[in-house]
Order: sequence, then C-alpha cells, then structure tokens
Amino acid sequence: MCGWVLREADGIVRNRLPGLAIPTLSPYLARSEDFMAIHTTRMLIIGSGPAGLSAAIYGARAGMEPIVVQGLQPGGQLTITTDVENYPGFRDVIQGPWLMQEMQAQAEHVGTRMMWDTIVEIDLASGSPFKAIGDSGDEYVGDVLVIATGAQAKWLGVPGEQELGGKGVSACATCDGFFYRGKKVAVIGGGNTAVEEALYLTNHSDDVTLIHRRDELRSEKILQDRLFANDKITPLWNKAVTGFVAGENGTLSHLELEDTVTGEKSTLEVDGAFVAIGHAPATGLFKGKLELDGSGYVVVQPGTPKTAIPGVFACGDVMDHTYRQAVTAAGTGCMAALDAERFLATKDFAAKESAEA
Ligand SMILES: Cc1cc2nc3c(=O)[nH]c(=O)nc-3n(C[C@H](O)[C@H](O)[C@H](O)COP(=O)(O)OP(=O)(O)OC[C@H]3O[C@@H](n4cnc5c(N)ncnc54)[C@H](O)[C@@H]3O)c2cc1C
Repeated sequence: MCGWVLREADGIVRNRLPGLAIPTLSPYLARSEDFMAIHTTRMLIIGSGPAGLSAAIYGARAGMEPIVVQGLQPGGQLTITTDVENYPGFRDVIQGPWLMQEMQAQAEHVGTRMMWDTIVEIDLASGSPFKAIGDSGDEYVGDVLVIATGAQAKWLGVPGEQELGGKGVSACATCDGFFYRGKKVAVIGGGNTAVEEALYLTNHSDDVTLIHRRDELRSEKILQDRLFANDKITPLWNKAVTGFVAGENGTLSHLELEDTVTGEKSTLEVDGAFVAIGHAPATGLFKGKLELDGSGYVVVQPGTPKTAIPGVFACGDVMDHTYRQAVTAAGTGCMAALDAERFLATKDFAAKESAEA
C-alpha cells in the first residue's frame, strides 16, 4: 500500500496519492490499492435489509455512527417483491422496494453511512475492533459488528419462475398467501417448509396441491399427519415442475410438470405457486469463524442477537429459520443495536476504570 493516509472531514481515513482529486465515497470508484480507504466506526453493520437498517436506525440514534455495508442486494429481499401488506404502519398495500428506500432514507437521516460494497473477508478471531475487507479493497473497522446478511430462498431455476415472481410465483406463503383467498394454489417441495406452507395456505384456499418429486415426504411425522388429515390439500407424487406459464393477463396460469418415474408430461392450472424447497443463509463468510447450525444459520444465545463472540451480534433471517419476516428481522435488528450499545458502554467503562487505576 502506498500514498498518504488522511482522516477527512467525514471521519473516513483514506490513502491518497499526492495531487489526485478526492475520490467519492463509492468504493467501486476507488479500486486501486493507492486509493484504498479505511472506514472506522463504533458499529459496523453487514447487510442492508430490514434487520441491518433497523440496527442502523437504533445505532445512529444511540450515537454509534454506524456504517452499513450494503452488499449485492441493497435493501435486501423485499426489493424483489411487489405488494407488502403485513408490515405494520401502513393501512394500504405498499411496495417492497419503496419500503426499503424509506428505511434507508430514515437510517441516513439519523446519521448512518451507507457503503456500496460487499464484505469478502472478515477477522473475528482478534476480537473488537473487528476488521472486514470489502470487494472494493476498502477496509472496515467496527468496535462492534452486526451481521444482517439474510437468507435467500432457493428457487427451482426453471423457465418462467423469475419472470412470474410476484405475478403468481412466490417463495413465502406467510407473505403472499393472503393474495390468493379462495383461489387454487400449489406448493412445491417435500420438507417441513413445504408442508407448513401447504397447511398455512388452507387458511385462505380450499384447493391446495402439494407437488413433490418423490412418493414420500421428508417432513416430520407430526406435520405429515396434519397434512394427510386436511382434506383441502391434495398431494401430487413423483412430479417435477419444469416450467411456470403465464396466461393472457401476464400472471401465472399453469404449471408444466414431468413425472419423475415415467417421464410423462402434464399441466396443472393454478392461480398461485409457492416454491418451498428451503433457504440458504448468507453465511459463507463466517464459516469456521463463528458457530453456525447444521443448515448454516448463525447460532445466537436463545432470545437474543448475541453470538458466542463478545461484540458480534446477528439479526434477521441470517439467524432465524423460523419466522423469516421483515418485521421480525427489523425487531431483531433493534435488539442487536440495543445490545451493541450496552456492550460498548460496558467496554468503555472498563477501559476508563483501568486507565484511572
Ligand atoms: C419474494 C419475497 C417476498 C417477501 N414478502 C414479504 C412480505 O410481504 N412481508 C414480510 O414481512 N416479509 C416478506 N419477505 C421476507 C422478508 O423479505 C425477509 O424476511 C427480510 O427481508 C429479511 O431481512 P434481513 O434484513 O434479515 O435480510 P435480507 O432482506 O435478506 O437482506 C440481507 C442483506 O445482506 C446483504 N449482504 C449479504 N451478504 C453480504 C456481504 N457479504 N456483504 C455485505 N452485505 C451482504 C444483502 O445485500 C442484503 O442487503 C419476502 C421475501 C421474499 C424473497
């Protein structure tokens, strides 16, 4: 690394070559090592979904001057949906991307710095302050670290699936089931999530088909018992969905199916289809550095966002495989900020005591 190291008016330390113009805050405009910046903060937040932004709002208002590193999906999962009808505070249906823009604006308004970067390396072993490296080459240093990297729904990857997202195809019955009241729906999958989604959908629809590529389910026995006892659900065995097809109005009209035993092709008319084949938490960065459960979710102390490493907190879908909602992500983001503030207050007090001793 070469160049000057300067702390500028915005508090950011940047390495500079003499005589060059000031780079902007976007790390992508400062890729060269000569321009590599070091961003220091009391509170470093990785992820800009509802969990990360809620942590930022509380953290900024507690004087921790948070930095949020946004990642490849600024605003998180809600930016890829349309109608949101269950986030408290809005009488009418709102749009997911709009909600996330407002959340970001609120976080910035109270003093959060948003960074357009993706963390690719992190050091948790050395303890606080925690250092992370962005894809840009920039370094981020935080006295506390909040992990809010979320979890992505797994998709089938077949034609029509992404195009019809929000137009009949969904990965969340709790989120979108209400829009299919009295309509014909299908759930695709054979594990606990699929069975739970099918059971949930019977609150809204009397015609739920559960499509599974095998002839038996992987879900827990108790869930299977409830499923088979529910006459609103029809299992369709040995069928793989090979395509989602739109009708004239541009929304889902039917599924294309292939029998996994005979290869026979067929179709199924539905108004809504819910892909329920699991979620993948975005925790690759933390493998071997932080305790993860068997499915890759960050392990926290029950009922808290505290991980086993003091000063490292996890919130939102990255630590929650049960609820996975924007409001629960926001709630745990708030908890992470409150615990982070307490952690820093205790640390600062101990440092002051030992300095005076
Ligand atoms: C199609 C769809 C519709 C939905 N509808 C609803 C709904 O109507 N109501 C509802 O309550 N919930 C809904 N959900 C669920 C809701 O979106 C999630 O529960 C919520 O977004 C989780 O928030 P989060 O902050 O934990 O994570 P996410 O929203 O997943 O955000 C994760 C963030 O982490 C960032 N990130 C990941 N890795 C890195 C990295 N290495 N460096 C930096 N940043 C990183 C990403 O860029 C992203 O900004 C829906 C989900 C989907 C997919």
